[in-house]
Amino acid sequence: MSDFLLSEELAAIRAQVRALVDSKIIPAEKAIFEEDRAGRRDTLTALRAEAKKQGLWTPHLPVALGGRGLGPMGMCALFREMGRSPVGAKVFHCDAPDQGNMDLLVQIATPQQKTRFLEPLVRGEVTSAFCMTEPAPGAGADPTNLKTAATRVEGGWEINGHKWFSTGGRNASFLLVMARTSEDPKRGASLFIVDKAAPGVRYVRDVPVMGETVLDHHEGEFEFEKLKVGPEALLGEVGDGFPLAQARLVPARLTHCMRWLGLAERTLSLCREYVTTRISFGKELARHQAVQRMIYDSAEAIHAGNLMTLHAAWLLEQGKTREAKPYSSMAKTFVANALCKVLDDAIQMHGGRGYSEDLPFAQWYRAARAARIADGPDEVHHMTVARDWLLGRIDLLV
Ligand SMILES: Cc1cc2nc3c(=O)[nH]c(=O)nc-3n(C[C@H](O)[C@H](O)[C@H](O)COP(=O)(O)OP(=O)(O)OC[C@H]3O[C@@H](n4cnc5c(N)ncnc54)[C@H](O)[C@@H]3O)c2cc1C
Repeated sequence: MSDFLLSEELAAIRAQVRALVDSKIIPAEKAIFEEDRAGRRDTLTALRAEAKKQGLWTPHLPVALGGRGLGPMGMCALFREMGRSPVGAKVFHCDAPDQGNMDLLVQIATPQQKTRFLEPLVRGEVTSAFCMTEPAPGAGADPTNLKTAATRVEGGWEINGHKWFSTGGRNASFLLVMARTSEDPKRGASLFIVDKAAPGVRYVRDVPVMGETVLDHHEGEFEFEKLKVGPEALLGEVGDGFPLAQARLVPARLTHCMRWLGLAERTLSLCREYVTTRISFGKELARHQAVQRMIYDSAEAIHAGNLMTLHAAWLLEQGKTREAKPYSSMAKTFVANALCKVLDDAIQMHGGRGYSEDLPFAQWYRAARAARIADGPDEVHHMTVARDWLLGRIDLLV
């Protein structure tokens, strides 16, 4: 796809996804959350089986792995639909961090790593986590602060360190762990694939956070003490850690944008009924200019976010990963802020009810706030985009 037209096949898959989201997933949201809080997943499991039956499971993966072989543009078309429900991506097995981890492992895992880790993940039998961030003074907005260290020992490596905000870590069966293997500023980190049950991995806790910790959106904290791994645990080559993190993060940021745009669109749609029926000062809310302005701002932000995301996805589809990086940063920062603002305005337009738990906006807003921090806080994207522009690497009139 090189324009805004979807191929017939993609349009048909998108219609299928939309139908499943509207007819079964959205009506089941309440049950899925309640069951998850009670430690059960019956409804979710049934819906995942339905997605599999309809051929909609992991559509982002190559056909050989059971997916539909969609490129980034195709993912954009489907992930926005799934994102209209906060549980949608989980049903189709396209949720973070598993989706980004799968995409990375497809590209770089050895045949043995694929058999042991990727294949059960693709089948949905296990989940995974990505462990980069550390408590201060370790890796955070600046990944080069990395303190977790892997040192060579007889038979492989020994890893020692402390990680947190490893989304999904508690339930994960394996972890992708970033560790320092030398002091080289660019090639000083390596990525290891670690069995969570290995001696030396200590799950400390889920960090308590502002958003509700549902499904696998728990922020795990881990300590690695004298964790021994063999040479087969290394992903890629020694020193590939930072480039691999970038290779994972640039597309993963965009898939976040796609899901967030879907949720923003649903949020705005949910405002229609109240603003067109609620009377205030003698006329419907929708007839007040200040309310129209909020609707306009949301519509404009969703449309602009769509275009930014599609453009960066199109660059990735052309294999232009380096060129896509600043556009992906701009899309991620823009869409994260847009989602927060759309939700904030939806709360405002609904008055007290908007702030209540009778409507979903407050719950969605608490989760959405993380978007401005996770996968690089806004300010770091501002810094890197400004640097790239100053170096003449960004053509703003594409
Ligand atoms: C819900 C959630 C899920 C996450 N999931 C994962 C995960 O699965 N795996 C993982 O490894 N990490 C994950 N993270 C961690 C996330 O990537 C980090 O929180 C983020 O990179 C910031 O790092 P930090 O928290 O150490 O903040 P710090 O590095 O301490 O930065 C704090 C603040 O300082 C400011 N700042 C930093 N640098 C600059 C700068 N150059 N210019 C101006 N201001 C700056 C920013 O405002 C920033 O928010 C997650 C975080 C959240 C909230």
